[in-house]
Amino acid sequence: MVLDLRTIYLAGAITCTLLGFVQLLAFATGRFERWPLWWGLSNLLVGIGVVGIALRGSLPDPVSIPLANLTSWTGYLLTLYSIRDFARRPPRLPVYFGAVAVAGILLLLWSGPEGFANRVILMSVLAACCDAAVVREGLNLLGRERLISGAILVGLFAPTVTVFALNGYLAASGQLGPELFTPNAAQPWLAVTGTAFLLLRGCALLLLVTERHRNALVSLAQQDALTGTLNRNGLEHSIEELTAEAAKRPHRFAVLLIDIDHFKRLNDTHGHAAGDQILLIFADAARSELRASDILARHGGDEFVVVLPHLTAAEAIGVANRIRDAFDRALKAWGKARVKPTLSIGIAEGNAAENRLQALLEQADEALYRSKRLGRDRAELHPATAWR
Ligand code: GH3
Ligand code: MG
Repeated sequence: MVLDLRTIYLAGAITCTLLGFVQLLAFATGRFERWPLWWGLSNLLVGIGVVGIALRGSLPDPVSIPLANLTSWTGYLLTLYSIRDFARRPPRLPVYFGAVAVAGILLLLWSGPEGFANRVILMSVLAACCDAAVVREGLNLLGRERLISGAILVGLFAPTVTVFALNGYLAASGQLGPELFTPNAAQPWLAVTGTAFLLLRGCALLLLVTERHRNALVSLAQQDALTGTLNRNGLEHSIEELTAEAAKRPHRFAVLLIDIDHFKRLNDTHGHAAGDQILLIFADAARSELRASDILARHGGDEFVVVLPHLTAAEAIGVANRIRDAFDRALKAWGKARVKPTLSIGIAEGNAAENRLQALLEQADEALYRSKRLGRDRAELHPATAWR
């Protein structure tokens, strides 16, 4: 099969340019963040640069050699910039400007026919480094944000590191040339592979964005808008996860049901806004005493649920009292509450492998009712737990 390198370059470049336009149009709608701007510009510049390279011989050499290469390199670099922008990592602008300036100077130095191999080595090394940096960003997104599409990004950028390295090697070992469109067995295949990956990559960023938005929506749907703790929906979801994990490694867990004492009176005395502030203060104080694996959820009104995996009810009393102390300290530091609310807490314990949250909440509620009856400002165990 005869693969014409110039045709491959042109077809890839024109598609890339059109993709760039579409992405810039998407940015112009104002419905997206800045990443389609950089991604669109990147495709546009790579496309225009490669069109210039493909038209070598028809365009003046200074346009089709240094200018076209520099344009496509600047575009290529913008891919990395857009991924970093997406990952909310501040761009190191001097590095970008430096990379463009150094490439520009070297391309001017090697703009003659004798500089062909050097130019190919330079462009291949730069593109391979850029792709390797994108792979690193993909791994970061996978690790930090748990974006599975980060793995797709890695899958689409890691192979081209090899493709560019191979291209550089062919040029360095004198197997390419003496000029770009000299017939050669390997290069059209490398170009086809490179072009296919170039076009597929647009999908990776779209997948990343979709996944991030989906995660944000799920988290919003599971969060209490005022306190930032989980809501009932989030609590149920977390309990399902806990139950699934406990099916593999059985363990017990404790549940605290916490209610703020005389909260209505506080609302009446200080106003609803102050009441909201107290709810926030409580959530922060509780969080400060919990482990990352513990679950804190607003059950409704001034009532909160804490789930403590791997803890017995007896150990949970310690946590409950620490939360009461932390709340008390935070209120003193706030200093605005004349009516100083306290906490009543009911505690129950269960087996995490059995999804019996509702039954445990009922037990914790009975214990909470008992602590209210005994005068509030205390933590009480459910009798079924206390007898164990
Ligand atoms: P107790 O000591 O028996 O718990 O008495 P209480 O006054 O705290 O009564 P209860 O827990 O039954 O009342 C909860 C109150 O919380 C009722 C409602 O006015 C108030 N509340 C519920 N949601 C919010 C909220 O989002 N913000 C504010 N400021 N108040 C709320
Ligand atoms: Mg209350």
